[in-house]
Amino acid sequence: MSTKSRMDGKVAIVTGGASGIGEAAARLLASRGAVVFIADIQDELGEAVAASVGGACRYIRCDVTDEAQVEETVAAAVAAHGRLDVMLSNAGVLLPTGPVTDMDLAALDRVMSVNFRGAAACVKHAARAMVGSTRGAIVCTASVASCQGGFGPASYTASKHAVVGLVRAAAGELGRHGVRVNCVSPGGVATPLSCGLTGMSPEEMEAATEPHSVLRGKVLKASDVAEAMVFLASDEAAYVSGHNLVVDGAITAVNYAVL
Ligand code: NAD
Repeated sequence: MSTKSRMDGKVAIVTGGASGIGEAAARLLASRGAVVFIADIQDELGEAVAASVGGACRYIRCDVTDEAQVEETVAAAVAAHGRLDVMLSNAGVLLPTGPVTDMDLAALDRVMSVNFRGAAACVKHAARAMVGSTRGAIVCTASVASCQGGFGPASYTASKHAVVGLVRAAAGELGRHGVRVNCVSPGGVATPLSCGLTGMSPEEMEAATEPHSVLRGKVLKASDVAEAMVFLASDEAAYVSGHNLVVDGAITAVNYAVL
């Protein structure tokens, strides 16, 4: 059976689905037959992406730092379709919190609140809806910054290490309830998040990244990460849980920090 047919009719939420990696994942899920809820704080963009995906794709405003909004988003999906099969907890921010000797702790709180606490809220409320379903799959977006330092500020690195810890603990607790929990850890992808930090355009960022690619002539795209996320969410990954799937063309395998 193909991955396409195995996603058919699944009910999915993608946080941070209005842009970048989340948008690519939402489009891929929909193209493979899933019903997708794009959950984001960029209303205009989210509505436009949902409209261009078409079908049953819907935008819902959901600030993942507000637990009540996460709970309401899950409840909306369940109310509309009777269940939730897939949660892609992908919303994230990367703020210039500075070197550790001069770290902006207020900005660090913001990074942790979106990247870690937001993921925890998504895991919590998705899991509550999925318990007993035997086909629930949660995929969090971490980063190569979850594997080592050197890929961004300490705040971002710490938040993504925390996401991996959350995923491992949740996978252990939720397995007996039939729910799998995994994460993906992408390398650098030219999106508003990464371009915002570097001040480069997507084209400039890809041109700067390409010479550092271990995979000759290849630059990581949001769609490459989306494929890995959808694999982890699919029935093909039925026995994969508690895993951190690194999608970086071997950058961390050779311990090579590009930022
Ligand atoms: P992006 O800026 O294109 O997308 C992030 C999305 O998250 C945006 O649509 C934004 O509105 C949304 N968002 C931010 N705060 C939110 C909140 N409080 N509630 C709901 N939505 C919120 O960036 P991206 O690169 O696609 O990032 C997606 C994920 O991938 C993030 O978790 C990021 O840390 C991770 N990541 C990105 C890269 C990269 O190089 N781009 C590498 C590794 C990991």
